[in-house]
Amino acid sequence: MSPPALPPLREVIAAHGLSATKALGQNFLLDEQLLGRIAAIPGRLAGQQVLEVGPGPGGLTRALLRAGAQVTAIEMDRRCLPALAELAEAFPGQLRVIEGDALKVDHGIEGPFHVLANLPYNVGTQLFVRWLGGEAWPPAWQSLTLMFQQEVAERIVARPDSSAYGRLAVLAQWRAAPRIAMKVHRSAFTPPPKVMSAIIHVEPGAAPPGVSARRLERLTEAAFGQRRKMLRASLKGLPGALEALDAAGIDPARRAETLTVDDFVTIARLMDTPR
Ligand code: SAM
Repeated sequence: MSPPALPPLREVIAAHGLSATKALGQNFLLDEQLLGRIAAIPGRLAGQQVLEVGPGPGGLTRALLRAGAQVTAIEMDRRCLPALAELAEAFPGQLRVIEGDALKVDHGIEGPFHVLANLPYNVGTQLFVRWLGGEAWPPAWQSLTLMFQQEVAERIVARPDSSAYGRLAVLAQWRAAPRIAMKVHRSAFTPPPKVMSAIIHVEPGAAPPGVSARRLERLTEAAFGQRRKMLRASLKGLPGALEALDAAGIDPARRAETLTVDDFVTIARLMDTPR
């Protein structure tokens, strides 16, 4: 069965009066070819559950529906709901829309799911940190495909000894392998944001055994909270950290940004090990 013909997104936006609102961080993607390429990043989605956060007028949503996904979409701007209802009608049984703030509402998806979102950057980062944090691993999600400001995307995939390397890199890399899947020029958005964007794709990997996520978070918070200082100084207030550094054979005169993700994992594990 061929997918239903839909009106161009510009017409949907005009028909429903969906002028982009700055307060909601709205920068819409209207190029359907580009949207199709974004929807293809996680791989084959036919029959798969997808959580889309912030569908807006539904550009990415329609690409996901055309790919055969079962989509749950959370949108907090009520103005977008009629446009999304039209999509739900065009793809019967494939789209469930939840009105609300994705930071607060429960998506209610049972079983594994993929996440795709082009969100305001502050909301995107908060959700990213939430999805990658926590003790339970592997997580319920199978992949995250998220648009970020390019500068944030670079922090997520950063390697040691670079100014972009910090807590976000360790959080994202210690049990997952994030990559920049696509760079998106600012001119692709309506209205164009001030900066360039990039899409991060993450799939969960194996969690190193014997490490608490909470411990690692505390450790990186202390280490990078004062990133110019030597570890000896920045970790002084964290019980067991200097002993763990010593046990790992890491020179306390080093600075946080010189440590690899594995180094942080080793220190966190040693902090959890009774000696
Ligand atoms: N996905 C659409 C696209 O690519 O054209 C819209 C992108 S626009 C950058 C972000 C969308 O997220 C807007 O529709 C906005 O209303 C919605 N949004 C912002 N904060 C949200 C939140 N906390 N929960 C759910 N949706 C949110």
